[in-house]
Amino acid sequence: MFLQNSSYPDSEFQSSSFQTSEFLQALGWSGFFAAQLDPALDATPDNTPAAVPGRVASANHGRFLIWTEAGDVDAGVSGALRNSGALWPAVGDWVVVRPHDAVIDRVLTRHTCVSRKQPEREIREQVLAANIDVLFIVSGLDRDYNPRRIERFLVMANESGARPVVLLNKADLAPSLGLNLEETVASVQQLSPAITVLPISARSDENLDALPSQLGPGQTAALIGSSGVGKSTILNRLLGDERQATNEVRASDSRGRHTTTTRQLFRMPASAANQSGWLLMDLPGLREVQLWANPDQPATQAAQTLEASFDDIQALAENCRFRDCTHGAEPGCAVTSANLDPARLANFQKMQKELAHLERKTNPHLAKETRAKWNAIEKSVRSHPKRDES
Ligand code: GDP
Ligand code: ZN
Repeated sequence: MFLQNSSYPDSEFQSSSFQTSEFLQALGWSGFFAAQLDPALDATPDNTPAAVPGRVASANHGRFLIWTEAGDVDAGVSGALRNSGALWPAVGDWVVVRPHDAVIDRVLTRHTCVSRKQPEREIREQVLAANIDVLFIVSGLDRDYNPRRIERFLVMANESGARPVVLLNKADLAPSLGLNLEETVASVQQLSPAITVLPISARSDENLDALPSQLGPGQTAALIGSSGVGKSTILNRLLGDERQATNEVRASDSRGRHTTTTRQLFRMPASAANQSGWLLMDLPGLREVQLWANPDQPATQAAQTLEASFDDIQALAENCRFRDCTHGAEPGCAVTSANLDPARLANFQKMQKELAHLERKTNPHLAKETRAKWNAIEKSVRSHPKRDES
């Protein structure tokens, strides 16, 4: 259903009016996406009404709420896209949509992508959020506080391309918990010296202004963390008076029922800290975050990103005797002989194994090699049967 009537002239794509649309730019549109529009690819055969670019604001069982210059479109996915195996839309994506037919034809290449391995399933990617500039990793200073989980989220952010910012929420509880806030911030900062760590309190509004100032105009952030850390509270406090109106953004499912969605993009009000407004996505609480690495990238890239997320280990590893040292039982390992927090090293190695496992499962070349090796072993076993088997 096209919620707002409007007509699109034939030449819309060709005139490239979308390149510089202020409306779209406020939603995160940039030259990176504009350059992907292609009149040959994206025009409908008779060209009326033309396809237009839009951003996926929410997703619900195959229905997507798309923000376009001419209004919101509640769209499905075209048959061609469904059958092509091309990128499937995720919240935050820029898509080419035909408002009149209420279908998405194409998902534009993402500039960042927050993914995890789908839990309890076969080896598959689950895209949590597309085109995120800043990933707010939220941790509660109460029971939830866990540096190992923060490390894992930092790796996830680095793999995604988004800039991580750690939010230590519930700072108001620090005195009653006997926590020294400064020390806690410093210890989180030690996990990765380059990142920003912000103690905040969604309850007392402490330091909440620091969030919008982390983003440039039209940039998008997402809140990620376990449930109960205060993500919804943070979102609601920042939305302020616009909360009611914004929370009514809903998508209808295929039977026209209105349901609230779990993943949704919000337009945040302009404030002194960010005068042109920004966007924020609340991700549902994640119990399990297993890493995902893009199989189209060379395997070394994910491994390097992991190492880069642990710069202390990376620096030490330069002095290991072996280039491919796994910092296990190898002689001459500079990492194991250093005075590192054993829990931090164990967490690093766990993620290293996870990525190696993923690589074996998703890299068709490696999988083929492994299969060939096993076939050869099997063959040799068959040609030399053990006595009691013959
Ligand atoms: P979410 O699951 O991450 O969305 O967490 P919620 O926003 O639902 O918050 C979980 C609980 O923590 C609620 O009872 C909130 O009132 C509480 N909470 C959230 N932020 C703060 C805070 O800054 N200080 C304190 N003391 N409690 C908070
Ligand atoms: Zn080593």
